[in-house]
Amino acid sequence: MTKYAYDFSEGNKDMKDLLGGKGANLAEMTNMGLPVPPGFTITTEACLTFLKEGGAPPQMLQEAGEHLRTLQEGMGRELGNPDDPLLVSVRSGAKFSMPGMMDTVLNLGLNDRSVEGLAKQTGGDVRFARDAYRRFIQMFGKIVMDVPAEAFEGSLEAAKEAKFAGAQDTDLDAEDLSTLIERFKALYREHTHDDFPQDSKDQLRLAIDAVFRSWNGKRARDYRRQNKISDDLGTAVNVQAMVFGNRGDDSGTGVAFTRDPSTGERAPYGDYLANAQGEDVVAGIRNTLPLVRLEEIDPESYRGLREVMDTLERHYRDMCDIEFTIEKGRLWILQTRIGKRTAFGEWVMALDMFDEGLIDEAEALLRVDANRLEELFKRRVKADGEGAIAKGLNASPGAATGEVVFTADEAEARAHEGARVILVRRETTPDDYHGMIASQGILTSAGGTNSHAAVVARGEGIPAVCGADGIRIDMRARAFSANGTRVGEGDVITIDGFTGNVYVGELELEESVLEKARQGDAVAQEQKIWKAFERLMSVADARRRLRVRANADTPDQSTNARDRGAEGIGLCRTEHMFLGEERVEAVRRMIFAETPEEEQAAYDILLPLQRDDFVGIFRAMSGLPVTVRLLDPPLHEFLPNQVDLAVEVALAEERGEDVAERRVTLQKVNELHEANPMLGLRGVRLGIVKPGLYAMQVRAICEAAATVKADGGDPRVEIMIPLVATAPELRQMREELEPVAGEALRAAGVELDHLEWGTMIELPRAAVTAGEIAEHADFFSFGTNDLTQTAFGFSRDDIGKFVGMYEERKLVPANPFVTVDRPGVGRLMSIACNEGRAANPNLHLGICGEHGGDPASVVFCHEAGLDYVSCSPFRIETARLAAGQAAVGAAEPASM
Ligand code: PEP
Ligand code: MG
Repeated sequence: MTKYAYDFSEGNKDMKDLLGGKGANLAEMTNMGLPVPPGFTITTEACLTFLKEGGAPPQMLQEAGEHLRTLQEGMGRELGNPDDPLLVSVRSGAKFSMPGMMDTVLNLGLNDRSVEGLAKQTGGDVRFARDAYRRFIQMFGKIVMDVPAEAFEGSLEAAKEAKFAGAQDTDLDAEDLSTLIERFKALYREHTHDDFPQDSKDQLRLAIDAVFRSWNGKRARDYRRQNKISDDLGTAVNVQAMVFGNRGDDSGTGVAFTRDPSTGERAPYGDYLANAQGEDVVAGIRNTLPLVRLEEIDPESYRGLREVMDTLERHYRDMCDIEFTIEKGRLWILQTRIGKRTAFGEWVMALDMFDEGLIDEAEALLRVDANRLEELFKRRVKADGEGAIAKGLNASPGAATGEVVFTADEAEARAHEGARVILVRRETTPDDYHGMIASQGILTSAGGTNSHAAVVARGEGIPAVCGADGIRIDMRARAFSANGTRVGEGDVITIDGFTGNVYVGELELEESVLEKARQGDAVAQEQKIWKAFERLMSVADARRRLRVRANADTPDQSTNARDRGAEGIGLCRTEHMFLGEERVEAVRRMIFAETPEEEQAAYDILLPLQRDDFVGIFRAMSGLPVTVRLLDPPLHEFLPNQVDLAVEVALAEERGEDVAERRVTLQKVNELHEANPMLGLRGVRLGIVKPGLYAMQVRAICEAAATVKADGGDPRVEIMIPLVATAPELRQMREELEPVAGEALRAAGVELDHLEWGTMIELPRAAVTAGEIAEHADFFSFGTNDLTQTAFGFSRDDIGKFVGMYEERKLVPANPFVTVDRPGVGRLMSIACNEGRAANPNLHLGICGEHGGDPASVVFCHEAGLDYVSCSPFRIETARLAAGQAAVGAAEPASM
């Protein structure tokens, strides 16, 4: 029989699927004997049943009731009891942490009578009890019954104003709170047309329902889409006895990290807020103190907390993020999880933990996220002599510059129009998520390093400065002022998430430490992050089986790629070599040629130009393979746009100009026009139709290789024919082109050690007939851009219009142009690998579509048995790392 509820003592940390991350870890800590307030977890399965059936299964209600009774007996208190009430929190907790995206209700169990009991329990602290009650009505109203949050906040603000100007929550006394409770209840009635529920069992049932429903709330769905979390997991609900951090100055609440999540340093890190409930820390309502200050405030609790931190870190063998509360000098642990960390911090921590013997080499490698490696090469603000107008906390690293917007909707809209924006808010809430992820950077005037803005920004790799309290935002005027400077909507600012500085205008940005170190800067090379990077990358390189090549078309790109560890070029596109005034002119002569002689004359102009390009590339890559792809795009791309030219000719004619020449061009453009150029005369078809074109390219390649070899270099040439669909296409091309190569090399008196002929597999027909094609190929390179386009029938140039919706509705597992679609495109690749190798055991296999630099796709390529991946020079390190991780066994990203 399905079991829908588990006592904390019944679970463990490996039960995240069923109990959610929070529930599983609460169970683990309970069983470790840590001071966790007792409670129970209602499973994700219950949530899924609830959502499917539109209501709670009766068995779940019964089990929850039994667990509640056990909890009441254990605590010696009863929910809603007028004399000595038990209060509980009801918290969401999915398998993967979704910070703030779902709902939580605290202080449940209070009503008009039990509030008196709570006062008694706390030695007559009426003010405290009433404050707890008003918080409960507020939270319950907002979360469970959708009463607008502003209604309560407005009343609270008014009550504080009425007290005295600048009053804080804590300045309201018991009388004020009594009035406020009545006001809140009236607001509740106004919006729900019902009285605030006095029966605590009803409160609990409604709260559990609300948490379940919040799984499908907009923020939660947005978050899951962005973080590629499945919609089918559901959330668990944790019902736990309340402890109070707001019972005076000997109480408080905080968040502790066992290491610094920003820098990775091995030092306790976190925030503490005296006399407050947990939600106050996240909401940034009051400014928090650094955790280490707790040592002065309450040395005993601090010592206890440090012990728990050590125990948890050793137990989980990872950095833990811990929520704790101190109630009247007694420490309680409310939650722990593997802590999220910056891309920077995760490298430093992984290396340290490896050195400390906490984890082994393979695990250290898996602790860093290949998707975030590029972040580490991000720029910083170069602010020498520049005056910052404000300074906040360095909440998420990286520098960003962009125009100011003040709302999440505006951020999303402007970003959609192509603008780079910085979202400026007092603080952010989960409702701002869509605008945050559309922004280059985030700036808030309130909140600490664990405020919502900071947590989300760090998770998403967006630079952020938080709690810049010198900033005054005037939402009505759509402007903020700081240090006497006014900045309006649309003005450009620069923020530095490394230092917390805020500047007016677009500042120059400078290279990251890693980038500097990579370029040989001695000071940068002394930094820990570089050491971690070098060590772990050397582990990745030692363990990986996949080789990593670059997609590079110029000598500069080749050099850059080689510096980053590229082991060759997997794709040198030759089309850019046909651009530039002189070359386009020659290409047009080729297109317009009426006789073979005219066409040859055009090739004679192009050949030396192409040869020089190849010489530079072969030199830069001496000793490493270079795959040169013969021309791929349709020829009309080298002619003027059809519509523009037609208009130009018509207008010129009207003005009485001589348009004879332009008419000829237009006629040729019209002749070459294709309804579907992507499926038209391109790739190998060009080579078939215009044999002189590929012959010229092959000659240029071979002459260049001969030149480099004669100079003592070691050119390793691979000639690649694009867009092949049938084996005879490739056979015919080789029959035509190999003699051309042979002749060019003979004429130069050079023999090449490495000259291979191969094709791209970028059409489904090529994939499923790979066995036949392989008989004529030394290598295959998967052109997954076109293969994805042709497998799905999605135009790679137009998919932007609907891929977002497709991802949102989960019609595709991910954007297939980013990550290889395993069941479709991946399957085609596997067929081609297997049948190709079966027909030709010496066949080399690689990938050169954009997917070659995507970590998840690299893992797939490893599994499919490819020999190498090829990607843009800037993603070489990412691919090397991902290939190493694939070899040691991919794990879930560390932060989950
Ligand atoms: C491909 O199709 O994956 C490929 C690498 O070729 P291109 O992007 O140039 O069409
Ligand atoms: Mg292609």
